[in-house]
Amino acid sequence: MPISAAQLVFDSQHIWHPYTNLLNPTPVFAVESADGVYLNLSSGERVIDGMASWWSAIHGYNHPVLNQAVKSQLDKMSHVMFGGLTHQPAIELCEKLIEITDSNLQCVFLADSGSVSVEVALKMAIQYWYSKIGYSKKGYSKNEQSKSGPSKGDKQKSKFLSFKNAYHGDTFGAMSVSDPENGMHSMFAGVLPQHFFVSAPTCLSDDDWKSEYINEFKAILNVNHNEIAAVIIEPLVQGAGGMRFYCSEYLRQIRKLCDEFNVLLIFDEIATGFARTGSFFAYEEAKVVPDILCLGKALTGGYMSLAATLTSRKVADTISAYQGGNLMHGPTFMANPLACSVAIASLNLLLNSDWKSKIADIEKQLIEELRQCKNFENVVDVRVKGAIGVIELKEPVDMERVQIRFIELGVWLRPFGKLIYIMPPYIIKPSELTQLTTAMVQVSKESF
Ligand SMILES: *Cc1c(COP(=O)(O)O)cnc(C)c1O
Repeated sequence: MPISAAQLVFDSQHIWHPYTNLLNPTPVFAVESADGVYLNLSSGERVIDGMASWWSAIHGYNHPVLNQAVKSQLDKMSHVMFGGLTHQPAIELCEKLIEITDSNLQCVFLADSGSVSVEVALKMAIQYWYSKIGYSKKGYSKNEQSKSGPSKGDKQKSKFLSFKNAYHGDTFGAMSVSDPENGMHSMFAGVLPQHFFVSAPTCLSDDDWKSEYINEFKAILNVNHNEIAAVIIEPLVQGAGGMRFYCSEYLRQIRKLCDEFNVLLIFDEIATGFARTGSFFAYEEAKVVPDILCLGKALTGGYMSLAATLTSRKVADTISAYQGGNLMHGPTFMANPLACSVAIASLNLLLNSDWKSKIADIEKQLIEELRQCKNFENVVDVRVKGAIGVIELKEPVDMERVQIRFIELGVWLRPFGKLIYIMPPYIIKPSELTQLTTAMVQVSKESF
């Protein structure tokens, strides 16, 4: 049955959408179905999706192979608890994740969302140091192993260092390492644990690298490394914190400093993973391997919520060697078999496709078709990396009007703040992509 006007009113009065207000709700558009790169709205429009449902629907919607993976698993079991039980889909997925990531990453925790995978990464880092040195009045010194465990009042190596403008998720731990000033997170400032932040990276190209770019980072580590368990960053692309790109050299410098100061390195590739930036994982472009890696979003091809935290044998074994040695996390829907099955199918589709040239083609087309906006009076910057295109305006857009305009133009794009951006499904055809970029150019020109 198609959605009724009364149901839409109910929605606006009773149901929160992401970052919304129930007294002053922003309009929502009802979707009836979706196929390929198209969303079929209840109002009859058929729009091209430029958002891939927040980076995730890389193969498009209603994909026969992904549908079949879910159906086949559904007939066996949709879910069983992961405590004390295991199953083929979880094992096969983890084998695959270990195979496609760096050989250093050997152990997997399957989480139920990206934010949770970040929480798990933070716990891993804290537990690693807790296990290795316990708390210490003197701070960490090499080879110091806690024998008696922590004593009250001692300093713990449990802080994190991250970039300003970072976005790592909405749960409390993830929020606490996300941008400390911007937007929503500032309202929880008094509640969140306090971590260390360094200015967001700005250098775009390794050719323009100057050693001073890393000075602030180095200074913070130099003074505080005894308290810092890990650095957590989104490699090469800061996503929801502003769609900002930066160069590989930062990552190489950070890796070096983390080793020098005995701090773990966590890469949050929830947005950048699975080819979005042009390499399969962003860390590959930089040739830098993290100690802990978070994956999510496109992991299931946009079908279901699933995320993974991978780490090295060194981290896993150190955590495990201490007393009980248990990693303290275990969600109810951990390793959901339906989600694991569709993740395996999605990974196979991607790995068996010519993803590299596909992303390169999308990148080339985005550069060609968005370039003209650079000359617009109200445009600050146009940037493209892999299958990500961004137009940064001088002023924030009027979301409500822009959203309606995009639907008129036959596309689904959801800007935030001053950014009109796109990260389409990889299966998009050049003509469909042109329709998206044309709409982006048009709306930037109209400057709502
Ligand atoms: C989306 C995102 C998250 C949070 O993932 P959820 O599945 O929404 O909890 C964390 N980190 C990054 C970089 C993201 O883009």
